[in-house]
Amino acid sequence: MKIVLVSLDFKDLGAFSAVRGFLQDRFDASLESLVLPVPERAFNPLRSQYHAGVIVQELLNKVRKGEYLIALVSGDLYVDGFNFVFGLADPSYRVAVVSDARLRQEFYGLPPDRELHLSRFKKEVLHELGHLLGLPHCPDARCVMHFSNTLEDTDRKEAEFCDSCRAKILPYLRKD
Ligand SMILES: [Zn+2]
Ligand SMILES: [Zn+2]
Repeated sequence: MKIVLVSLDFKDLGAFSAVRGFLQDRFDASLESLVLPVPERAFNPLRSQYHAGVIVQELLNKVRKGEYLIALVSGDLYVDGFNFVFGLADPSYRVAVVSDARLRQEFYGLPPDRELHLSRFKKEVLHELGHLLGLPHCPDARCVMHFSNTLEDTDRKEAEFCDSCRAKILPYLRKD
């Protein structure tokens, strides 16, 4: 298994490498990092947000056989019908995108909290990668595959798969 972690002009290099290390620890996979420009046509100036679906579309030709591609963006994401999304995954093409814009306390006018930011970011990336590996949303509110409608949902869940989800993707996980 190969995971390609793509920086779409992602600004926070420390967070990028924290996520990379986090995935490397958990998955029996080789990791490759790639830097690409954010697709201009994904930006909606009326909303000052990027369309997550358009970003995923733009990345479809970057993923090769057997690879799982996760793109990280600093800008805020949305899809039609939603005010925002933390991320979006297309399991059939094995491409996902995750934004950390709304995972920062500063977004809500609060003092920065690096640890909280990184913890949320790891959860959201792990969640989208879970989708790429075929996992649906999980009813267990503590499981990383639980749907996050709000940041409270993200904070409630752990940066781990529950036993049931874990069992479904066992071959991809690092044996320790
Ligand atoms: Zn999801
Ligand atoms: Zn689960």
